[in-house]
Amino acid sequence: MDTEQPPKPLRETNHPPLVLNPQKRTPFLKTATHHPSPEPILPIAHTKHHPRKPPTTTTTPQTTTTARPETPDSNSGSVYFIGTATTIISFAGLRLLTDPNFLHAGDHVHLGPGVTAQRLTNPAVPDLASLPPVDAVLLSHYHEDHFDREVEAQLSRDMPIVTTEHAKQCLTEKGEEPFRKVWGVGEFEGVFMPVGDGQDPDIGEGGAGEGRTKKKKPAVRVTGMPGKHVPPGPLAAINELLGAVPPTNGWLVELGWTKPTEGEEGFETGYRIYISGDTLMVDELKEIPRRLRGDKIDLMLVHLGGTTIPGPNMPLLMVTMDGAQGVQLMRLVDPDVTVPIHFDDYDVFCSPLDDFKKEVDAAGFGDKVVYLDRGDEFKFTIRGA
Ligand SMILES: [Zn+2]
Repeated sequence: MDTEQPPKPLRETNHPPLVLNPQKRTPFLKTATHHPSPEPILPIAHTKHHPRKPPTTTTTPQTTTTARPETPDSNSGSVYFIGTATTIISFAGLRLLTDPNFLHAGDHVHLGPGVTAQRLTNPAVPDLASLPPVDAVLLSHYHEDHFDREVEAQLSRDMPIVTTEHAKQCLTEKGEEPFRKVWGVGEFEGVFMPVGDGQDPDIGEGGAGEGRTKKKKPAVRVTGMPGKHVPPGPLAAINELLGAVPPTNGWLVELGWTKPTEGEEGFETGYRIYISGDTLMVDELKEIPRRLRGDKIDLMLVHLGGTTIPGPNMPLLMVTMDGAQGVQLMRLVDPDVTVPIHFDDYDVFCSPLDDFKKEVDAAGFGDKVVYLDRGDEFKFTIRGA
């Protein structure tokens, strides 16, 4: 039994804000001076909706096949699944890219001393240059299946990156070309991301107007969540010595609104996304629902795969959740909707998506999960637009 103590605040520390300016985004490639024109469009295979609340305004079926430009309307958002843990979270004209990895089938990653893995799938978007511009990158940890060497070599040094303290050190202190805009965020530490400084035209509203500074603008708040990539105990101690598996974060990504004059004080959350990161089901995760104090997670992106090192031929140590742990996490965090990611892209992912599906069905959670293929998007509605 846990001894109950009053929950701590969700955010213990606030980092300096990361101001977003969607009118002047950093081009992805460090060699580029401007974005490709026209901007690349995400190739959307299928659009999926809330499993229990399909959209009511149109007769759109649960799944539609479309290839169309993204239209930023103010009360809808989406998660587009590229592959592994690479997604694009969009709303009200803002875009965040998570864990960028654009390796292709047959490519290899190095995951630590003696640990390599082969990619088995292709990403839905072939490379960084084929993405629409984004406002910031969220990097859960510094591992090549989340930030591959090509991305590291090509990405603009001015791209804002929110990540762990460990990854920040790796990105800002090594080599001749360190990254310049990196936020190192620990557990239960927050970064507020407002738009511009009140000078920009409103986003997704078709332009500027009188009194626009009084209008609510979209904003994002990201908070580091606990994650343990190595099981506690002697192995964790050995790993500290070897430095094989880096520390990892989960994220709480709050999409919402604020008035330019009010900043974070006036921030109203319209949608809460919890991204598990590469973690096992550990006691530290129990802090998440405690600190949320009843605030509902709308969407969980859960990293599955039952990643096993050193590899499939010598399965010694599991370092990400398998299907059974994924369902345990659903019970713990109780999200409204869960989308599994990071489940079949590398040969070290030993728990296939079917493991999770079986556990979900056995738990009677079938109507709480949306399955995305690479190239699919999940669309959702944001409160308070
Ligand atoms: Zn991973």
